[in-house]
Amino acid sequence: MTNPLKRARNETTDESDTSTIKITECTRHSDVWFDDGSIVLCVEKTLFRVHRTILCSHSEIFSDMFSLPRPLDEHMIEGCPVAWLSDRACDVEHLLKAMYDPFFRPTLMSTDQLEGVLRLSTKYEMPTFRQECISYITSCFPSELSDFDDPPPRPSCFWAVTMARECDILEILPCAMYLCAREPPRVIIEGGDGDSRNCLSQGDQNLCWEAREQLAHMAESEVFSFLYRFQPHSECQAANKCRSGARGIIRIFYETNRIYPYGRMEALRIEDFSIYGKSVCGCCLTAMRTSHHTGRQVVWAALPNLFGLGSWNNIFPPDLTESLSDG
Ligand SMILES: [Zn+2]
Repeated sequence: MTNPLKRARNETTDESDTSTIKITECTRHSDVWFDDGSIVLCVEKTLFRVHRTILCSHSEIFSDMFSLPRPLDEHMIEGCPVAWLSDRACDVEHLLKAMYDPFFRPTLMSTDQLEGVLRLSTKYEMPTFRQECISYITSCFPSELSDFDDPPPRPSCFWAVTMARECDILEILPCAMYLCAREPPRVIIEGGDGDSRNCLSQGDQNLCWEAREQLAHMAESEVFSFLYRFQPHSECQAANKCRSGARGIIRIFYETNRIYPYGRMEALRIEDFSIYGKSVCGCCLTAMRTSHHTGRQVVWAALPNLFGLGSWNNIFPPDLTESLSDG
C-alpha cells in the first residue's frame, strides 16, 4: 500500500497538492483542535489537532505512516508534528468527528458526512467505520426485494452508484442502478440531484439505457403479464366481464401514463390492487396478485445481470460464508 502521507507530498497535479501549502496560510479547525492533541493534520488549508494514538487505534495505515522515521525538516506546531493529507478537508472533518463521537451512527448523518466517513474509512482501512457505513447504505439499497419495498429514507441513487464504484460496494449496485435507470433520460444524463459529482460515468449511463429496454419488456411480459396476457382464473364465473375489466385497466394505464409516468420506468412498482376489485372477480384478482408478485421477483432476480454484474450469486457467492466458517 502506498503511504498516503508520502503520496500527499508528491502529488503536484491538482488542487490537493500539498507541497505548495504554507503553514502560515492555514487555519485551525474551530472544533477539531484538541489542546492536548499530539499530531496536527494539514488538509487543504485546514489544520486539525488530534491524538496520534486515536488515529492509530482505528487505522493500520495511520499506524504505519506514523512509525516511519521523521524527516529532519519536519514541521512542528506547538510541539506537534504536522502530517499532510491529500484528502478533502470536509471529508477529514467528518471522519475525525465520527472518531471522537461515542454515539456515532451513520443513520444520523447527512449524505456529505456519510460520504466523508465511507471514503476515508475505505482509504485508511478502518473496518469498523466502513462496515457501519456499508450496513446503513445496504439497508437503503438492499439485495432483497422485501427490503426494497420498505426502505429507510434513501440518499440519491446517483450518489450511491458513484460511491459504490469508488469504494467497491458491489452489493448495492443492482438496486441503485435500477433506481437510476427508471428515471427519465434527462435525469440519467445530468445526474438527478443537481450535483455534478454524482453524474453516472458514461459506462453506467450506457448500462442504464440498455437496462431500460429490458425493464420495459419485463414490465409487460412478467410483472403486468396478468393484464397484457389476461387469462380468467379456472374458477372464474364471469370470464367476459373480467376480460373486459382487464382491458379497461390497461386503458387506464395508458391514459394515466402509469407504465411510463413522466418517462419513468417502474417495473418494480408496488401495485395498488384495491382499484382492481371493481373490474374483475375475486378469483381473478387473487391470481393477478400472485402473478404480479412472481413477476416482480423475476425482475429482482434479473437486476444484477441487467447491469453487467452477473447474478446475485456472483455478488454473494453462496459458498463464501460456509468456507469462511469452515476455515
Ligand atoms: Zn374472473
